[in-house]
Amino acid sequence: MTDFPGTTGLIFNEPLLWEKGKKGRTGFSLPRRDVASYPLDESITGDGPDFPDLSEVDVIRHYIRLSQWNFSVDSGMYPLGSCTMKYNPKTNERQASHPGFAGAHPLLPPHLSQGILQLMFELEKFLVEITGMDAASLQPAAGAHGELAGMLLFHAYHKSKGTPRSKIIVPDTAHGTNPASAALCGYKPVPIKSNEQGVLAPKDVAQVMDEETAGIMVTNPNTLGLFEENVKAIADIVHAKDGLVYCDGANMNAVMGIVHMGDIGIDVLHLNLHKTFSSPHGGGGPGSGPVCVRNQLEPFLPVPRVIQKDGHYLLSIDFPQSIGKLHAFCGNVGVLIRAYSYVASMGAENLKKASQLAVLNANYIKEKLRGTFHLAYDRPCMHECVFSDKYQQIHKVTTLDMVKRLMDYGFHPPTIYFPLVVPGAIMIEPTETESKENIDLFIDSMNAIANEAKENPDLLREAPKSAKRRRLDETAAARKPCLRG
Ligand SMILES: *Cc1c(COP(=O)(O)O)cnc(C)c1O
Repeated sequence: MTDFPGTTGLIFNEPLLWEKGKKGRTGFSLPRRDVASYPLDESITGDGPDFPDLSEVDVIRHYIRLSQWNFSVDSGMYPLGSCTMKYNPKTNERQASHPGFAGAHPLLPPHLSQGILQLMFELEKFLVEITGMDAASLQPAAGAHGELAGMLLFHAYHKSKGTPRSKIIVPDTAHGTNPASAALCGYKPVPIKSNEQGVLAPKDVAQVMDEETAGIMVTNPNTLGLFEENVKAIADIVHAKDGLVYCDGANMNAVMGIVHMGDIGIDVLHLNLHKTFSSPHGGGGPGSGPVCVRNQLEPFLPVPRVIQKDGHYLLSIDFPQSIGKLHAFCGNVGVLIRAYSYVASMGAENLKKASQLAVLNANYIKEKLRGTFHLAYDRPCMHECVFSDKYQQIHKVTTLDMVKRLMDYGFHPPTIYFPLVVPGAIMIEPTETESKENIDLFIDSMNAIANEAKENPDLLREAPKSAKRRRLDETAAARKPCLRG
């Protein structure tokens, strides 16, 4: 096992800063005083909080050690299906921290914010071109927020025609946020099943689509990592009843520059800039989930919108049919700068290539591990592939046991038990940024674990062996977090 990278590092123990402190230590030195000293008021110098006294070395080691308890895409492969944990080029960070951007206040008047307004204007154009849609709003702060925006747009569209609708079709392979966003907007989600090939059948949509139904939410590629090949036929069925088609485009990483969403009948699409367009994410940090729309929905987009007038960029709220404001100011602007930097530094050809490599890498893993692990749907996949623990169940080893063991081999576990339509699912998304060597190491590790499942199943049940924390009660960890060291 020592041959695998990331597995032999030291694991540091680290006490709380309060336990490390020693009276009289200090982490700073003040410059020589050049004014007379002056006694402070007792009420300021009295008993303050009991902060520990620490040296600079104490503090630096403390935080560096804590940071090493974490796994990140900068420390190793992170094949977390559906989350697109690709490596994020550091140039994006550099652009976002440019003082002209980082120091700009959102209340600056437009004539002092031409640079950032131009960037947002052009980013909308980039996203529209990449997706094959007509207009975009950068306001939504995450994928799920983009979905809510999409549902509000659906509602505004039908309301403008004098016929608001009450239901929405949501397939079982949609991301869990889809029915939640629809319900939050007041729609009743109508579930439909995917067929035995893992995709939607037009006849199943035709059966439930009626004049009370606002439309359908499809995730494409879907959460099984499969392309919804009937989406055009489905869009025709929905449009025939004046319904609209929403596409959850969080998986756009598989199809950039390849699928023209407008041409396949999509009316609204959200993107996850923090996934496909390369911003660090996870742990609830800021995200961005722009919505892209076809022409007929543009009047309803959120305000303010960036417009160009006489060679200047302005923020306009002059869109009377708009669904209104969805986020303070203009959204999470730092993520927008990173996405702009990513798109501009990649260029059209390389974005397409990134998608091709993401798909190639996932299919390579699928082909190499088939036979060892049960393949849920035996057909070419997009950017992720889904296995299950069916073959390992005879040794009473579960998906959870195996992915916990993967941590001992130096990899972040894949997504598990999702999508729900595959019992014991293991959903692997390598992304385009992993080299063949890294992917081969991952495959070797998965094979080694499958062998351990046969020969030493107890070992897997106790995994991970080398992690700082082993098997947490995940519910209690979320509900009653223990914040001590
Ligand atoms: C990640 C994801 C979402 C939700 O995005 P958030 O930014 O986490 O709200 C929605 N749909 C799919 C398919 C996703 O992968």
